[in-house]
Amino acid sequence: MRRLLLTGSALVLALYLIPAALLLGGRAETVDAATASVPVQNTAAPTGDYSTVTVSIDGTPTELPLETYVAGVVAAEISNDFPIDAIRAQAVAARTYAVYKMASGRPDAHPDADVCDDFHHCAAYRDIAVETAAGNDLARVQQAVQDTEGEILTYDGAPIAAVFHCVSGPRTEAALDVWGEDVPYLQSVVSPGGTAYDGYEAAVTVSADEFRQKVADAFPAADVSGAPSEWFKASTRSDAGGVITVKLGGVTVEGTDVRELFGLQSTNFTITTTDDSITFHTIGYGHGVGLSQYGAKYMAEQGADYAEILAHYYPNTVLTHV
Ligand SMILES: [Zn+2]
Repeated sequence: MRRLLLTGSALVLALYLIPAALLLGGRAETVDAATASVPVQNTAAPTGDYSTVTVSIDGTPTELPLETYVAGVVAAEISNDFPIDAIRAQAVAARTYAVYKMASGRPDAHPDADVCDDFHHCAAYRDIAVETAAGNDLARVQQAVQDTEGEILTYDGAPIAAVFHCVSGPRTEAALDVWGEDVPYLQSVVSPGGTAYDGYEAAVTVSADEFRQKVADAFPAADVSGAPSEWFKASTRSDAGGVITVKLGGVTVEGTDVRELFGLQSTNFTITTTDDSITFHTIGYGHGVGLSQYGAKYMAEQGADYAEILAHYYPNTVLTHV
């Protein structure tokens, strides 16, 4: 077996918000408290009425109070067992993202709704009433949403694209390295505590036949007729470790495309091969940009409050009210 270390960087995914309500507690490294600073409180509010949001639920437009929607997103995205300040941070991120979507206008994908319940496109959502009736304890989720009612993050006075993900490697990814756009509040920051997530390190093994078939369909110009050890060549990586681009059978492909093609948990991957298979070894889960849910958990366990967590993961932003 030969290990190919892909040096370099590259990833690009859609603005996937990976639902991560499958979380377990864990261990801790050192938190870099020096990088956290509290966002400036600001009374200036974004213009517009954001008290209600139209959500496409199973394809049906449904108008909900904003806070009801936010609670449903938080319930779908983070464990009720997390520290309250981690859940508060998630609540502000979810609310901000919803307001950002509303402020951005309705997309072609659902022109009759501001957001949808597909996490591949907008954010996962669960009906709080249904969940609690089924006996699921969402008391902390509801408390966190109530505690942060109306609070959002802005940059230059506008609601930010407060993307989030389950867990990063040692650092989060910069939006520039994942989506090709330099966003001042979506920079790479340290993110300790990720190993608390059970699936922090994962592996996907693909047979040579399956690999060749998938590559032939997705990248027909790539030549993968040789041995698996010859398939991947020089790559570029972000500072956070994610593959930005890699040579696959002589063709330059994006790390995000490799992730999607083979169902990898992240673009932060290395490769080992045998004569008839290839294995991707990943670190983290999700696109790696913005708030890390496990990073938020770790910071909260170290005593950070939600404003400090948000200031760390969304630098240069202002915590304000809609
Ligand atoms: Zn959507």
